[in-house]
Amino acid sequence: MPPIVVRFRRFTSLNTTIRLREGMIKVSLSDLLEGAPETVVRAIAHILLAKLYKKPIDAAHYLRYKRFASSAAVVRQSELVRGARGNKRFSGPEGRYYHLEEVFDRLNLRFVGGLLGRPELTWSERVAKRALGHYDAAHNTIVVSRVFDRPSSPRYAIEYLLYHEMLHLKHPVQMRGLRRCVHSREFKAEEALFPQLAEALAFLKRL
Ligand SMILES: [Zn+2]
Repeated sequence: MPPIVVRFRRFTSLNTTIRLREGMIKVSLSDLLEGAPETVVRAIAHILLAKLYKKPIDAAHYLRYKRFASSAAVVRQSELVRGARGNKRFSGPEGRYYHLEEVFDRLNLRFVGGLLGRPELTWSERVAKRALGHYDAAHNTIVVSRVFDRPSSPRYAIEYLLYHEMLHLKHPVQMRGLRRCVHSREFKAEEALFPQLAEALAFLKRL
């Protein structure tokens, strides 16, 4: 078995490549797959190795991957990320009802003593209801869905969403063996400190 190097890269689609170069297997995966369930990651590994060695692809693995790739959540997230990364300019932090920088600065003071550097903050181009927020480490940018920029959206909802994304800044992805852990135990413990967590989650569910 040759050594395997896996990299997550900033692709705007689910592009995945595998190559055998200089005795090494090199795999590039879209960072959109960062939070994918382990079964999906296993399916991708199977498909790529089957392609590389020209072996038949197991139907169950193929289906599992296809189902994930076409699921609405992933499609919306790709759209959101593509919107933020494409030629279009960022919408910027200033919304009609909420200013993301103002919300961020207050949360920063309230929960982490103002210690986090403020990343780029921008409203999404579209009113996405699935991809509500996304922290793009490559651009150090938090993108928030416009769905929160309306009077019917309570302040605790946008606060919770930004707080969650801030915690992604504070707690980078951890490796548990071969598994990428996006929401670590420390992450979740800190998230639980948000006073209106239950109300915010209930509001998000109703969107
Ligand atoms: Zn998250």
